[in-house]
Order: sequence, then C-alpha cells, then structure tokens
Amino acid sequence: MTPADPFLPSTDELLVHNARFADNFPDHGLHLAPRRKLAVVACMDSRMDIFQILGLDHGDAHIIRNAGGVVTDDVIRSLVVSQRLLGTQEIILIHHTNCGLQTVSEDGFKSDIERDCGIKPWWAIETFTDPHVDVRQSMSRLHSSPFITTKGHIRGFVYDVDTGRLIEVQPDDRHIG
Ligand SMILES: [Zn+2]
Repeated sequence: MTPADPFLPSTDELLVHNARFADNFPDHGLHLAPRRKLAVVACMDSRMDIFQILGLDHGDAHIIRNAGGVVTDDVIRSLVVSQRLLGTQEIILIHHTNCGLQTVSEDGFKSDIERDCGIKPWWAIETFTDPHVDVRQSMSRLHSSPFITTKGHIRGFVYDVDTGRLIEVQPDDRHIG
C-alpha cells in the first residue's frame, strides 16, 4: 500500500462475516475453563494463527498476545487469572522470526515517540535482536515470578514464518527452581 491509497476500514465487512458465523454457530456448550489446561503467550503477528499452528480447537487454551509475545506485568496478570481461576497448568511461549520488534531499537523508538507525542513512554518497548534469546528471557521471567505458582510445564519456541515450523528454545538453568 502506498501513502496515496485511501484507508478503508474493515469493521462493517467483518460484521457481515460475524452474522454469517452466528447463523451457524459451532461452539455451543464449550466450558469456561480451557479443556487442555493450557495457556499460550504469543506475539500478535498477523501471520500466526495459534489455533492452526498448534492444531488447537476452540475451548482448548487461553491465548495471550502482545507485541513480541513478551512476558510483561500484564501477561503475568492474565496468567495468574488463567492458573488460579481457570485451572491452567501448562504454558507455551511463542516468538517468531522476522518480528517487527527486531526492526527498531529501544532508545530510537522511544525517542521517536517522545518527539511526536511530547512524552517519553514509561514502559519498555521490549525490542530484541535474537528471538531465541528473547524466548529464553521470557521463560526466565516466568520461572522467577512469585505469582506464577505452577511452573512445572513451561516451554518456549520460535516460530519460523517462512516454514511454519516451531523451534524449541532451552530455558536458562539459572532460573529454574
Ligand atoms: Zn512479532
């Protein structure tokens, strides 16, 4: 898309899709608690359909997403609700190759925002260069968190957007207790 292309919002078209979906609603009787007792933390990247990538069905898992799939305080909040209220016991982390957060630097992006908005973000952008290192960091944050009380089944992966394959990342031994 070039800057000259007019932007056309999608919402009205998507509401037509929704009406069609609701006419043939397939998910009657699903339970509130995820069937597989699983929570997935993943990047918001539009190329990753987590249900498709993992062969999950609706009702199987909580999917928690943000830019990068980073373990932030708010992801911890969601995981605490997932584990304590809704019984999940397993966590899968998924970052990926060719992520937008690899294309900017923490300081550079923050400076750009400050220049345009007049205020410097008080939150980290969480940029990274190597997704494998970043997954390991996210696993360490989970293992170090006092609020994540079920830590026995935490695994991390990098999704290759060119092949569709998941590559497992080994955790940092220093943070597994
Ligand atoms: Zn990403």
